[in-house]
Amino acid sequence: MTQINDVSDALIVINERGVILRINPVAASLFDYHAEELIGKHIKTILPPTNQNPTEEKGVVFEVLKGQMESVYKKGLKKNGFSFPIDLFVVPNMDGSYTCVVKDDTSRFFHEQIETMANVVLRRVLIGEGLEHFAAFILEQLQEVFPFPLMWIGQYEKEEQGVLVMSSLGVLSQMASPRTLFTHTDKAVHPAVLACERMTTVSDEVADENGNLYKMIAFPFLSKKDVVGVLTVLSPKEQMNHIVLNRFENIALRLGMILQISEDQKFLRLLSTAISSAMNAVFITEQHGKIIWVNEAFTHLTGYTFEESVGKNPSFLYSGLQPPEFYKEMWHTIKSGRSWRGELVDRHKDGSLFTIEQMITPILDYEGRVTHYVAVYDDLTARKDAEGKIMHLSNYDQLTGLPNRSLFHEKLKQIILKASKVNECIAVLFVDISSFNRVNDTLGHAAGDQILKIMADRVIGCVTSKDWVARIDGDEFAIILRDIQQPDEAGDIAHQIIRQIQEPIKMDKDEIVLGGCAGISIFPYDTRDSEKLINYADMSLFKAKKAGPNSYFFFSQQLNTEIEERLKLEQDMRKALIQNEFFLNYQPQVDLKTGHVSGWEALVRWRHPQKGLISPNLFISAAEDTGLIVPLFTFVMEEAVKQLKSWNKMGYKDMTMAVNMSSAQFEDRDFLETIQKVLKKYRVRSKTFELELTESLLMKDARKAQEILCLLSESGIRIAVDDFGTGYSSLNYLHRFPVNKLKIDRSFVKDIISDKENIAIVKAIISLGHILGLEVVAEGVEDAKQLHLLKRLGCDSIQGFYLGVPMSPEDATLFLQKKNKKS
Ligand code: C2E
Ligand code: CA
Ligand code: CA
Repeated sequence: MTQINDVSDALIVINERGVILRINPVAASLFDYHAEELIGKHIKTILPPTNQNPTEEKGVVFEVLKGQMESVYKKGLKKNGFSFPIDLFVVPNMDGSYTCVVKDDTSRFFHEQIETMANVVLRRVLIGEGLEHFAAFILEQLQEVFPFPLMWIGQYEKEEQGVLVMSSLGVLSQMASPRTLFTHTDKAVHPAVLACERMTTVSDEVADENGNLYKMIAFPFLSKKDVVGVLTVLSPKEQMNHIVLNRFENIALRLGMILQISEDQKFLRLLSTAISSAMNAVFITEQHGKIIWVNEAFTHLTGYTFEESVGKNPSFLYSGLQPPEFYKEMWHTIKSGRSWRGELVDRHKDGSLFTIEQMITPILDYEGRVTHYVAVYDDLTARKDAEGKIMHLSNYDQLTGLPNRSLFHEKLKQIILKASKVNECIAVLFVDISSFNRVNDTLGHAAGDQILKIMADRVIGCVTSKDWVARIDGDEFAIILRDIQQPDEAGDIAHQIIRQIQEPIKMDKDEIVLGGCAGISIFPYDTRDSEKLINYADMSLFKAKKAGPNSYFFFSQQLNTEIEERLKLEQDMRKALIQNEFFLNYQPQVDLKTGHVSGWEALVRWRHPQKGLISPNLFISAAEDTGLIVPLFTFVMEEAVKQLKSWNKMGYKDMTMAVNMSSAQFEDRDFLETIQKVLKKYRVRSKTFELELTESLLMKDARKAQEILCLLSESGIRIAVDDFGTGYSSLNYLHRFPVNKLKIDRSFVKDIISDKENIAIVKAIISLGHILGLEVVAEGVEDAKQLHLLKRLGCDSIQGFYLGVPMSPEDATLFLQKKNKKS
């Protein structure tokens, strides 16, 4: 029999009942006993039954003997009650006793245990769990190997400079219950906090109430650059040697690495969620180009599902529209490790094509070899659609759907470019619907819109499909007539369009009849420049509008000159206003009964520095068109009232001063105020001030005229109708306006002697005027015959060269002195 005292293995000899017969020193010290202490004791004192067969009263040795033991965790029990893993062999002896060979298995067990734990933790990390989910599990696993009174895992709270306990285990676990926060504010800094801050193991010694000394050691879990947690153990001092310390440090290191994976995982999950749900289509291929992953946007864009796409080469999307060289160049670029970007057309599953901008980035390994390619798509079709919509909004009129002014300009340019190559003749037509504003004012904008749509359709109906219609302004259309043989053709179409515009429109119960005007310019006769062509058509339209509704005009060089002169005139007039080039002449109106001057008409004159004296007939209408009539009127008004005042002061009191008024002034909001201000300034009675306006002005916007005339007459101002008789139907309307005087137009007076019809008209005007209680004045009386006839017909007063031409203030004063008596 071997001398068991001499072998290095731990040997124990027991009898068949389990009583220890012999034990060698190695074995005794393994269990922290002296050999004598154990002799005669039952083997289960140091080798208790396993958890698997707790009923085996004689201990683990007899389990082994019965062959019940395989890979079951066997433990030895030390004198102080701590258990430790062992490996156990039992050899039956000849005499019926047994020899037990015991090996301290802590090391292997530790490794196995840690390995198992690490694998489980890793698995849990990979499915997305965090330290908080498996901290308790780690502690349970460690407890199996290190049955310390306290072990806990915490999380470093950087901002709070503390450690928050996540889970704790052991008999003293109440010392660190979950959710406890250890911080700097404690009496002493907790080793766990220090360990996190210093990123290294920190140990401390503590004693319990009984004076037992413990080691408290904190092991931080370190990831790449951060502390991701901390394990703190409290162990009896004697049990914490450098081997155990080392083992814990390894565990902390291992957990740190696993938790780093957890962090990476979180980030990757974030990334992949971002990519999965990205608006842009993304796919990833392996190095040979086989697709291994696509995102949702990709499946929407291409029509292929994830399953249908994965495993394929991206060439399954090829439209065939890119030449092979295109792909060759692309592959060459990405194979060499560089990114590639380009626009290409791919084919959808349903066969339709879509345009994309693609960016392919190779993914390289640490040696610079391509392992994958990531392709990101930008769907240009959608963007191009959006661009198209914006294009439409900015280029088309929303009401009629017709191209707008800016597109019209663009299109004309293109058409002219083509036309000039093939010697094609083109007409530009501008069409305006007359007095459309009145439709909006009276019927409302909704009706106005409806009418415009109808008009747009009518205009389109007059041209062919090769022509081009745009709406360039509220009530203005522009048309490009292509390939016309001669200018007359454009005239015919203009005529046709105007006729169409004149067709009555049924609106609810009303029937509306409008009119239209057109201006025409021709390429290449008038000009070869598109902007000028537009300008010329516009000028011609302007001229047509002046000529009256339902007319059209061709552009002519003469018109061009006229318009250029007009522009010059406008500039000169602005200067003239500043440089006082305007002045007044006064023409007397003589009372036929008394022979006295009953009134004056102020007539404006312009002394142009180069052109000399200019007649108002030449500049008034330009002043009206440009709005300069407003300051001009103010000047005339003030000048005339000043003159009247000075005559009043001289004693000539019962006279009126008449000033001519233009239609443009109905638009001037301050008109009435200007008049009243001037009258007040010179303290002139309003009933001696007269405004002359033509009947056409009255008829143009009767409602507005009535409104303004009523205001004027309420403030005592007199109103005279100028050029009376030239505006036909006006007699019927006369009673509607608060008028004081009728001025029979010169044209009736001119032939009054020879023309019987004219006599009848003048007679009628005079009697009508008198019935309405109006004063009647005849204009343009140039001789005595006319004067006498008019006197006989009952005319109240006359104005004309025969009695007095328009004259300077000085001459007018002399005239007064001759004719009138002072009062
Ligand atoms: P009107 O208001 O009809 O003015 C009368 C025009 O007839 C004046 O021409 C006057 O010189 C002219 N006249 C007067 N007696 C005779 C005559 O016996 N025979 C002939 N053939 N003509 C005669 P004038 O001053 O050249 O003014 C022309 C037009 O210019 C005016 O016609 C008026 O409509 C406009 N006008 C003149 N001054 C002003 C003004 O200050 N403001 C505005 N808005 N218009 C003005
Ligand atoms: Ca007048
Ligand atoms: Ca007149």
